[in-house]
Amino acid sequence: NLQDKLDRAFKVLKGQGNITEINVAETIKEIRKALLDADVNYKTAKAFTDDVKQKALGENVLNSISPGQLLTKIMNDELTQLMGGSVTELEIGKNPTVILIAGLNGAGKTTFTGKLAKYLKEKRGKKPLLVAGDVYRPAAIDQLEVLAQQVDVPVYTNRDSNDPIAIAEEGVAEAKKNGYNVVIVDTAGRLAIDEALMNEITAVKEATQPHEILFVVDSMTGQDAVNTAKTFNDRLDFTGVVLTKLDGDTRGGAALSIKSVVNKPIKFIGTGEKMEALDVFYPDRMASRILGMGDVVSLVERAQQQFDEKEAAALQKKIRKNKFDFNDFVSQIQQIKKMGNMKDLMGMIPGVGKAIKDVDIDDDAFKPIEAIVGSMTPFERENPDAIDQKRRMRIAKGSGTDINDVNKLMKQFNDMRKMMKQFSNPAAAAKMMRGMP
Ligand code: GDP
Ligand code: MG
Repeated sequence: NLQDKLDRAFKVLKGQGNITEINVAETIKEIRKALLDADVNYKTAKAFTDDVKQKALGENVLNSISPGQLLTKIMNDELTQLMGGSVTELEIGKNPTVILIAGLNGAGKTTFTGKLAKYLKEKRGKKPLLVAGDVYRPAAIDQLEVLAQQVDVPVYTNRDSNDPIAIAEEGVAEAKKNGYNVVIVDTAGRLAIDEALMNEITAVKEATQPHEILFVVDSMTGQDAVNTAKTFNDRLDFTGVVLTKLDGDTRGGAALSIKSVVNKPIKFIGTGEKMEALDVFYPDRMASRILGMGDVVSLVERAQQQFDEKEAAALQKKIRKNKFDFNDFVSQIQQIKKMGNMKDLMGMIPGVGKAIKDVDIDDDAFKPIEAIVGSMTPFERENPDAIDQKRRMRIAKGSGTDINDVNKLMKQFNDMRKMMKQFSNPAAAAKMMRGMP
C-alpha cells in the first residue's frame, strides 16, 4: 500500500538509518511510484514529483536539520496544495438551501445525511429538514428515521410514493411551509453505476435546484472510487466530495486521486458510524496522513527557526569554497543539540520513532564524536584533508576511541562535505537533476 511505498522512499531518503544522507533521485523515483500505486494518475504524479524536485534542489539544505526532512516538508506542502490548499466550507445559500446527497450503495449516504444534519444544527446554527428519497427499500426510510431521531432533526417521508423526484419536491415545499432553512435529500444508490440511477438523480437535481450536491464515496474502494467519482461528476457536476470510512487504516490516497481527477473540493470526511464521527476536510491534515509522517512538519519548522541565518550564509560560503571544516562540524552538532532532546526530535520523524524505541539515543550520542574532534589539533580541525592515518591513530588514542571510530567519522564527514557542496553549487545541482528520472 501507499504507506509501505512511502516508508521505502523515506528509507532511501534517510540512507538506511543515516538521516543526514540523501539520494534525491532515488527518493523522487520512489515517491512517484508510491503515488502511481495509490491510484494517482500519471500526469498528477509526474507534476507533483517534478515540483518537489524543483523545490528541494532550490532550497538551501543548511536551513533544515537534514535534507530528508526538508524534502518531507516540501512533499507535505505540495500534497496539501494538490488537495485544495485550505478548507472549503459548505455553502449555505438561498432559503431554503437544498443539499443533494449522491453516491453508490453502502457508500455512507444515509449515515452522512444524519451527520450533516447534526453538524448544520450544532455548528452552523441551522434548522435542517431531512428528506427520505431512497424509495426502493423500506428499510432505508426506517434507517434515516432512526438517525434523524438520534440527532433530533425531522424527516419528510412519503411511504405511499415511489417517485423520488416528487418526494424531493414535496420535502422542499414542506421546508418552506414550516421554516426549515436547509433541506438535505438522501437518495437511493445502486450496487454499480447504471443509466436509470443517473437519470433519476439528474431529475431530482433539476427539480430541486440544489445549492450543494455532495458525492459520498467509500475511501476504501481505491481505483473504483476514482472511476465512480468521475462518472457521477460527468453527469451531475457535483459541488463537493465526502470521503467516508476514514476511521479504518486507509491512508486516504483516494482523497488525492479523486481531487486530481474531478477537481472538486473534498468537504467532509466520515470517521465512524456514530453521528458525531464527521470532520471538515483539512488538506494539510490529510497530507500528513497520506505521508504517515507524525509531526515531522513542526519538527522541521522548529529546526528552521533555530538555525541562525547569518551563520548559515557564512557557512554556505565556506562550503562553496570547500572550506567546511571540523570547527563548523562541531558548531553544527551544537545547533542540533540546541533544538532539544534528540530522541524526542528523532521520534517525530516517520519510521524513526519505531526504530529507536529500544535504542538509547540521547545527547550522549554525540559524546564520542565530540571527543574525537576535541583530540584534533587546531591545524587538523581547519585542514581535515591533512588528517592522515598516523594522525588518526593519535586522535583515537587521545580521545579514548578506536581507530575504526575515527575512520568512520572521517568518512561521514567527507560524505557530508561532498553532499553539502553539491547542494550549494548550482552547476552540480543541475548535473544531479539531469541524472534524475
Ligand atoms: P448508503 O447506502 O450510501 O446510504 O450507506 P449507509 O449510510 O447505509 O452506510 C453503509 C454502512 O457503512 C453502514 O453500516 C454505516 O454504518 C457504515 N458507515 C457509514 N459511514 C461510515 C464511516 O465513516 N465509518 C465507518 N466505519 N462506517 C461508516
Ligand atoms: Mg442509504
